[in-house]
Amino acid sequence: MSDYDPNNIFAKILRGEIPCNKVYEDDFVLAFNDIHPQAPVHILVIPKGSYVSISDFGAKASAEEIKAFFDAVSKIAEEKGLSGDGFRTITNAGLNGGQEVPHFHLHILGGCRLGPMLTKMAA
Ligand code: 5GP
Repeated sequence: MSDYDPNNIFAKILRGEIPCNKVYEDDFVLAFNDIHPQAPVHILVIPKGSYVSISDFGAKASAEEIKAFFDAVSKIAEEKGLSGDGFRTITNAGLNGGQEVPHFHLHILGGCRLGPMLTKMAA
């Protein structure tokens, strides 16, 4: 697994160096709207700690950070009115996962029927 790059775009958002459209924050978690939304609701949930991917987060984060992260996902889904009709969460990891930003993040997508999970098998 690669080392954490402190110059990735989400680290800059966490340091306040670039803006975001914040939807949730607590001691351990920040969530904001995706700049290129793929659904009517598209929110990115990130831990404030420096973790590259979900594997890195699972291996290194404290139980308190992990609980706070998933509690935040549930709260955001509820607050955004997604719990009733449902929603999708995605976390991309590494090259095959298509991860663009190397700071662990969970996409929350909702607000419409999202269709099949994958549109086609990659060649
Ligand atoms: P990934 O492919 O790494 O799972 O997803 C990265 C996501 O970050 C993409 O959906 C992309 O639109 C979003 N993103 C990239 N740069 C920015 C930014 O500067 N601000 C926000 N709010 N989202 C960003």
